Amino acid sequence: MNRTALITGASRGIGRGIALALAPLGHDLLINYARNEAAARQTAADCLAAARAAGREIRVECHRADIARADERAALVSFARSAFGQLDLLVNNAGIAPSVRADLLEATEDSFDHLIATNLKGPCFLTQQVARWMIESQERLAREDASRSSRKIIFISSISAYTASVNRGDYCVSKAGVAMLVKLFAARLATHGIGVYEVRPGIIATDMTGPVKDKYDRLIADGLTPIRRWGTPEDVGRAVAAIAQDLLPFSTGEVINVDGGFHLRTL
Ligand code: NAP
Repeated sequence: MNRTALITGASRGIGRGIALALAPLGHDLLINYARNEAAARQTAADCLAAARAAGREIRVECHRADIARADERAALVSFARSAFGQLDLLVNNAGIAPSVRADLLEATEDSFDHLIATNLKGPCFLTQQVARWMIESQERLAREDASRSSRKIIFISSISAYTASVNRGDYCVSKAGVAMLVKLFAARLATHGIGVYEVRPGIIATDMTGPVKDKYDRLIADGLTPIRRWGTPEDVGRAVAAIAQDLLPFSTGEVINVDGGFHLRTL
């Protein structure tokens, strides 16, 4: 039986890269998206093709849900339960940047609330629901197939979890909160055999960074990152695939930097 994974925000960008990395490993996939159904369907078709090319047969489903909304999160989990029966991997990837990069002294409460609801509260309570479900199905799974008793939850955070950008403080606060969620859930879920990880991307080429491409082109060329190139959704997908393949069995609460070395202090 294939392992199963739910990836939030997998229609485009990093989430799509994660789905494309898991497909050839033989994971059945649930592609969540917020609005862009055509992109989600395209990702699903590309995942099926990638799996087939690797000699695997997988099932791929798409489900629209705004992870900031409690009712839509509940519907997403209920869809996952009826489609797959149980879940081996949750990847909390969906996230947004502020619609306006406003200076800290001008930034609005509306933007703050929206960013926190989508980037922090949504993943927190989605994880709560999924973790309860994983725990509930743990004994049955261990009986039926011991190799599947190790489940995982991954949060896609950001270098903004520890880097102060004064023109998008709301985003930074939301990602710093995600880093704490990882520690909390890792500590709480370890005894249930559920590993929790933070994958922390740096500057990745997606629609999110499109509007600031020229600025980042310059910064990267000037040496902002020791590895002087943009990151790609595939870079992040490969880190998630390593975790999904059980390559870090004695680690939980771990931060995997996928940032071209941005986090290094150099002199
Ligand atoms: P992106 O290209 O803008 O894609 C965002 C994805 O999230 C899309 O699939 C979108 O669905 C979905 N989404 C947005 N709001 C949602 C909601 N409320 N509910 C469900 N899905 C939602 O962004 P990205 O660059 O791939 O970013 C993905 C994650 O990586 C985010 O958490 C982001 O903060 C983080 N990150 C990005 C970078 C970077 O440089 N790009 C760096 C560090 C961390 P639709 O297609 O339906 O709109």
